Amino acid sequence: METITIHNTQRTGRTSQQGAMHRKNKNSHPSNNWTKRYREHLHIYTDGSKGDSSTSAAMCVPETQYHNKWKFEKGDIISIMAAELYAIVKSLEWVALNIELLTKKNFVILTDSLSSLQSLESFTNSNYKRQVNRATRIAEIITENDATITLQWVPSHVGLAGNELADQLAKEGHLLTIETPCPLGTEEVKRLVKNEKIKAWQRQYDAVKEETHIGSVKPTIGHWPWATFKNRTTETAAARLRIGHTILNESMHRFNQADSPLCNRCSTPESIEHYLMTCRRFEQERRKLFLSIRNAGIQNISVKTVLGGDSLSQQEQNHIAAALETYLKASGRLYGMYNN
Ligand SMILES: [Zn+2]
Repeated sequence: METITIHNTQRTGRTSQQGAMHRKNKNSHPSNNWTKRYREHLHIYTDGSKGDSSTSAAMCVPETQYHNKWKFEKGDIISIMAAELYAIVKSLEWVALNIELLTKKNFVILTDSLSSLQSLESFTNSNYKRQVNRATRIAEIITENDATITLQWVPSHVGLAGNELADQLAKEGHLLTIETPCPLGTEEVKRLVKNEKIKAWQRQYDAVKEETHIGSVKPTIGHWPWATFKNRTTETAAARLRIGHTILNESMHRFNQADSPLCNRCSTPESIEHYLMTCRRFEQERRKLFLSIRNAGIQNISVKTVLGGDSLSQQEQNHIAAALETYLKASGRLYGMYNN
């Protein structure tokens, strides 16, 4: 049974595995042709919108002045595609519910979401099976009522009034106070699980970070791309400075591995801060280190800065990491002192 006709891209007049959907080359339908092509149809426009932490969608039927918009629960993980599919499903529902009242019996849903159309078409591989299943079932109900339903891809921002209206409504959706649940796709479920795991890990980390050196350097968990050095010796020395287990006297003394916690030169505890920030033995090397960091535009230099924990750009962090490597090599105090 032919249920949905999908017009999107690339190939011409192909019937899908379901025998329910086929599509035509988008290039053969420039935007000014749609009005003509679908003059017997009722036009329904849909759009989705992704904000910083919210996701929304909208549908509108300019001819009947009907429109609706939604803001989604878990908006930070809901993909734009899930939102676009939601608006398409809602449009199909609207048609099915109102079909007896509507004079036109041919319906076209115009969307600029190519990926949604592809998802509806590649039914079996879809990440959004629940929404795709629902779309197909509702489309069947519509066609059982001697109506037709077509999905047409339209390019966004080409001045198509209905598309512009749907776009605007979807953006307004971010301001809604009521949030609607949106069926999650497989990718979103994965992201949700990952986010929850990261949150749990962060909570564990927060619970102990006050008591650890690493907690003072790295306030949040997560990958530091600038924290890995190609040179194994540098990598070991830097990692030990970050986690706070070094062969500096203060640390070694704590484990009865050194007679005194004091610096051999300065007679103050040889801590990580001492080694990096104040030890007189490495004044010259430190001058170069600080100069190099200041040259990158960073004025306030702390242990945290030197070890890569400040909120800076990747480029600035790479610069600091290179300066730290030079300092480690030049001072020689920790460099090559570890066997691993
Ligand atoms: Zn010293």
